[in-house]
Amino acid sequence: MSDLNPQCQLSDSKDAENFSSQPVQQILSTRDARLGEGLIIRRALPHRERRMIGAWCFLDHFGPIRFKKGEGMNVGPHPHIGLQTFTWVIEGKILHRDSLGNAQIINPGQVNLMTAGKGVVHSEESQLDEYATLHGVQLWIALPDSKRQKDASFTHYTELPHFQQDGLSVTVLAGEFEGKIAPTEVFSPLLGLDIVALEATKARLPLNPAFEYGILVLENEIDVENETISVGKMIYLGCRREHVSIRAFKGSRFILIGGEPFKEEILIWWNYVARTKEEIKQADEQWKNNDKRFSGIQGYQGIRVDSPPIPWK
Ligand code: MN
Repeated sequence: MSDLNPQCQLSDSKDAENFSSQPVQQILSTRDARLGEGLIIRRALPHRERRMIGAWCFLDHFGPIRFKKGEGMNVGPHPHIGLQTFTWVIEGKILHRDSLGNAQIINPGQVNLMTAGKGVVHSEESQLDEYATLHGVQLWIALPDSKRQKDASFTHYTELPHFQQDGLSVTVLAGEFEGKIAPTEVFSPLLGLDIVALEATKARLPLNPAFEYGILVLENEIDVENETISVGKMIYLGCRREHVSIRAFKGSRFILIGGEPFKEEILIWWNYVARTKEEIKQADEQWKNNDKRFSGIQGYQGIRVDSPPIPWK
């Protein structure tokens, strides 16, 4: 994903409470952002009142949307630094290409994980010849300072731990849950779960009290600790919980993300995660000047994405 809004604001993690050390129930609304022709996505993170959950620093929910032929997601080549992009597809297909030479279609139930490190370029296109519907999420994970200058890398994961419990179908996207460990390589303690209710059900999900957590609803609605949360809403739960109580209708779907509170202050502007404005400005000048830090992509038909104007001097 790339922010295609011509007015792109700086997001500074110190402008909102870093994390809540106690349990809370903070309900946050997503905001709509445009991502190419006909595709409106719901952006849950960063939020004015909640910049991160663990190292998860960006969360877009796209679809479910039925495209007409010729429409779809088409995000041209754009750069990233300092983060991992984590793409989880529920319906449809997305073709990822990157400056490392990868061209990888991601199918439902699979994850594409790109570690930008010091710099990478990628493009993302939905594949419309076979599937007209698209539904999924893309998250970004801030890299800790010790890893953010590493070389870029990319991994496609076809198999993730998957099990049923208490009427819920659970996929472990990142981290460990109920003894099941996701293979996805992350660089700080994190959890990501995709959960679908197979029937109307109540469940208590075990949590790690040292982590902070949030839940974003992807389909229908669920009750979280007796608060009703529908599509377009996220609930932030804070730390120090042993478990969370869920009540779901059949077919409700949500993702639960969590992690150890990320103690480093980060800046996000456009597609860059950094620590200072100077780092962002330098990366952006290198992108504009076709510097070798951001090399080209083989095979993509179309133009690359220009960065919006930097909103500070
Ligand atoms: Mn991207």
